[in-house]
Amino acid sequence: MSQDPHDQLLLQIRGAVAEYERTLITERMRRGRLSKYKAGILLPWTRPPYGYRVNPERPRDPTGVRLDPAEAAIVAEIFAEYLKDGVGLISVAKHLYEQHISSPTGKARWGLSTLRGILTNPTYTGQVYAGRMHYRPAQIRRSAMRPIGRPHNSAALSPREAWIPVATIPAVVTQEQFGLVQTKLAHNQSFASRHNKAHQYLLRALVSCGICQLACYARTAPEGHHGYYVCTGKDKPVQNRREEKCPSRFIPALELDELVWRDLCDLLTHPEMIIYALERAQGGHWLPQELQARQENLRRSQVNLRPFSPGQVRCQIFLSQANWVVAPHLTVVRETTELRVIS
Ligand SMILES: [Zn+2]
Repeated sequence: MSQDPHDQLLLQIRGAVAEYERTLITERMRRGRLSKYKAGILLPWTRPPYGYRVNPERPRDPTGVRLDPAEAAIVAEIFAEYLKDGVGLISVAKHLYEQHISSPTGKARWGLSTLRGILTNPTYTGQVYAGRMHYRPAQIRRSAMRPIGRPHNSAALSPREAWIPVATIPAVVTQEQFGLVQTKLAHNQSFASRHNKAHQYLLRALVSCGICQLACYARTAPEGHHGYYVCTGKDKPVQNRREEKCPSRFIPALELDELVWRDLCDLLTHPEMIIYALERAQGGHWLPQELQARQENLRRSQVNLRPFSPGQVRCQIFLSQANWVVAPHLTVVRETTELRVIS
């Protein structure tokens, strides 16, 4: 293609028409799918829910759906177990592990979100719905040390009136049993410990473990004197599906909050540091190699902090014997954050 203005114009017109056509095709396919859902001749799944099998010749045909007796019995047991008095999702996961029942992906332990997904899926009452979930870009990080939106976008429940009833298939549980489970789930959710706002934490949902990179949650000892940030990797295996506990220590919340707050105040009262960092970023001084070199220097300077391993230092910067590490460490964190803001 030459740089001739007419050729360029032709290229742009072709591009615009191609884009328009693509939009039309997408919209036509969406409408086609929608009408098939309403006619009850197309399943909304690309993979059937746990407990069901589809006809391999026609995997999207609602008439080919049948129950897998073994898996359906497990689903029924999950519903029955959850409805017992004093039983929550963790107890159900524990029960399944003790019975040596593998998860749908073949793991020894069931994830709590998997169990919740099964217990809230109305397909098990025999009614298939399309458009029950929609996917939106992730808004929060699973951990402050991980990027937003990995590994996938977030699934969110659509309003009930937007659901399209597609077909009736063999049921695993009764409508009444399903309703009771939904009531119990909603009741238990309202009492979940994550809704406990009895204590204030400056860094709530912002601290991550330096060893396993999982998010830390905040907790306060029963007498209410000492608050800590605790790695979720220290939870019981039934909660995080990890056989080995994270060796990190509890991070005293008060000390860490004070440290970060002081550093933040320092940054805000000396705005020239921001200008300096911006100039460095724009001048290309914040290339990954330099960041890595600085981290390596930091790591070497922390060798004397035995018995703490270098990876643990991030969680233990509050300790008096490690105080001298704080400034360079926080500078790295701060400048990294600035880099992210700039980029
Ligand atoms: Zn950890």
